[in-house]
Amino acid sequence: MKELVVISGKGGTGKTSVLGAFASLASSKVLADCDVDAADLHLILAPEIRFRNEFRCGHEARIRMDACTGCGGCLARCRFDAIRWVPDSGTVRYTVDPIACEGCGVCVDFCPAVAIDFPESIAGEWYLSDTRHGPMVHARLGIAAENSGKLVSIVRQQAKRLAEERALDLVLVDGPPGIGCPVIASITGCSLILIVTEPTLSGQHDLKRVAELARHFQVPAAVCINKWDLNTAMSDAIEAYASAMGITPVGRIRYDHAVTAAQVAGQTVLEYAQTGVAEDVRRVWSGVERLLNGGQP
Ligand code: SF4
Ligand code: SF4
Repeated sequence: MKELVVISGKGGTGKTSVLGAFASLASSKVLADCDVDAADLHLILAPEIRFRNEFRCGHEARIRMDACTGCGGCLARCRFDAIRWVPDSGTVRYTVDPIACEGCGVCVDFCPAVAIDFPESIAGEWYLSDTRHGPMVHARLGIAAENSGKLVSIVRQQAKRLAEERALDLVLVDGPPGIGCPVIASITGCSLILIVTEPTLSGQHDLKRVAELARHFQVPAAVCINKWDLNTAMSDAIEAYASAMGITPVGRIRYDHAVTAAQVAGQTVLEYAQTGVAEDVRRVWSGVERLLNGGQP
């Protein structure tokens, strides 16, 4: 089984549109949306959720008001200013702001009245779904929840498990933008990453950062330039840099209003159009498939 991760140095490069189009083209695959902080593949693929699972991560302090004596010790000891006082019929009681609580457990250990519970916190959900282009694993991270790298790892593991169970050949991953922990969690040990970039100075800069990440983790990488015709000289420079870094250029995708129109229509660009940008994406996919199979683009 192969695993292709589509990433970009930053958001808004068209990464998800490219991946959605690949979903139309790849036959035997599981889709995985690892962009858990800003998941949007579901907007194109309209998944029907079959299984819903809680994502538990860390702990959260909860004061039982009826047991709290109001000594104020937790307020004095919380380094994250997560304890709030609440007037209660002339006495003072305390409560925890769940957004501010970092789950360090100091207040729990201190409380002389043993009035603070410390349950695991639910930081989001992950889902096993069906789409018109095959099974999909995706997730939603709760508001202000952290540790999206851990949730990314769960989505990847579940997608691989599903591919094995159903004897599917490919896991097609929509990776997070940037170069942080969620990106590292999404690319380590994969078969190939495809970097989607734009012909701008910031696109060139972001490509360099992602290229260094790929090199550090020794993951084979390819690049495609989205909206390449907006700056042909920069597209040439980016491909030259990528080649020098051992990253294989697999094609260029033109600027085309059909991409936005497809998004508005809730379709992949290949469902929406047959020519223009759709032809470019087909060519890029052919190059990626050849690389996945050990050949040249
Ligand atoms: S340390 Fe315990 S008893 Fe004291 S204010 Fe906090 S919750 Fe209440
Ligand atoms: S668990 Fe830590 S961060 Fe949360 S309220 Fe207690 S002391 Fe503050």
